[in-house]
Amino acid sequence: MKSCRGARTAVIVGAGVAGLTAASALARRGWRVEIAEAAPATATSGWGLCLTGPALRALDELGLADRCLAEGYGMAGITHVDVNGESADRVQLPRLIGAERPAMVGMARPVLHRILRETAERSGVVVHYGMTVAAVDQEQELVRVRFSDGTVRQFALLVGADGIRSSVRALLGLATSLDYHGQMVWRALVSRPPWATRIHQFAGEVNTAGLIPISGSQAYVFLTENGVGHSALPDAELAPRLRQLLGAFPGRVKEICPLVSASESVVRRPVQTALLAGAWNRGNGVVIGDAAHAPAPQMASGAALAIEDGLVLAHELACHESVGAGLESFVNRRARRCRTLVQTSVAIVGLEQAQHHHKAYPLVNACHQQMAEPA
Ligand SMILES: Cc1cc2nc3c(=O)[nH]c(=O)nc-3n(C[C@H](O)[C@H](O)[C@H](O)COP(=O)(O)OP(=O)(O)OC[C@H]3O[C@@H](n4cnc5c(N)ncnc54)[C@H](O)[C@@H]3O)c2cc1C
Repeated sequence: MKSCRGARTAVIVGAGVAGLTAASALARRGWRVEIAEAAPATATSGWGLCLTGPALRALDELGLADRCLAEGYGMAGITHVDVNGESADRVQLPRLIGAERPAMVGMARPVLHRILRETAERSGVVVHYGMTVAAVDQEQELVRVRFSDGTVRQFALLVGADGIRSSVRALLGLATSLDYHGQMVWRALVSRPPWATRIHQFAGEVNTAGLIPISGSQAYVFLTENGVGHSALPDAELAPRLRQLLGAFPGRVKEICPLVSASESVVRRPVQTALLAGAWNRGNGVVIGDAAHAPAPQMASGAALAIEDGLVLAHELACHESVGAGLESFVNRRARRCRTLVQTSVAIVGLEQAQHHHKAYPLVNACHQQMAEPA
């Protein structure tokens, strides 16, 4: 059997959070890594995200936590506000990178992507933009990959990090459903009000809203719209409709409404989840990140799982003689944690839809405590 330590070449499909982190982690352990990314190099994904403690802990292992904190906005916890505009719960999240550093960080997505991309490229990773994988077959210890430009190459490892609609998942013969949960989630970039120094989440009569700072000057508003079909709206209607939905909330949410002025800063996406019930790997191929386990955004932890996946994958491959055994061990180590997170996020969606917000708070808290355990 050929040792994976002997022929360490990897192709990763997708230069998102999971793909870029896995690429850096593998390259640091001596792998020669290439990434095929379908989007052009200039593509940026627009809104912000919150990186919780487990994400910061994993980024710290790559030496990136301080950079993310410097370019984002460090926070200690979540303030939940009830339907009357009164503070209902104040959650302090575990500080996993030391008592003197923040528990989490809000960031603009393009900033996180830039940091991860620069780090991967500095580690020698080559990213091919506008490229995807058209076919995959496996022979002995090698994966033969046909790229969208017609070239055929062999690698010791194929990693599908191509998101919730992963085509690598299908090419490896791994199947999962994509579940829509009757919610559309809105995001809009706004200037940061001075009081927004942590996550603020507001329960409404029908919907849920919130504000997350992503830098000293910027924040993003989110709104989860309940009981709607999976539908699209014309761009011109996005900002006025979001302002209308926010207008139904009392207190501070009303203050945010006028900030949502420019239509191009507003995005609206379906809340969808995916979870591979069985193996995530076949032969020397594996899927990671949202391709294996995509939670609803309610736990703000999909990126944390994706970043952890990259680090644990590189670690398990270093601990095993063959790629196949390393992948088995990786999936065994990750499956339970990722399933818990996805299932909890879906349970929170249900509680929001039933207007049982107060029941969701302890669930969110308990799940964050669970995720504080080592990956
Ligand atoms: C509205 C919303 C809000 C969220 N907020 C948070 C949050 O605050 N905190 C948090 O931790 N998580 C959040 N998440 C979840 C988080 O965004 C994902 O879990 C995370 O981005 C998953 O990373 P990934 O690399 O697996 O997938 P992605 O980020 O989707 O990256 C996949 C990459 O693969 C590329 N690709 C796709 N198909 C192909 C192909 N066939 N060939 C080549 N390349 C391909 C894509 O262009 C992309 O670059 C949120 C999700 C949503 C929808």
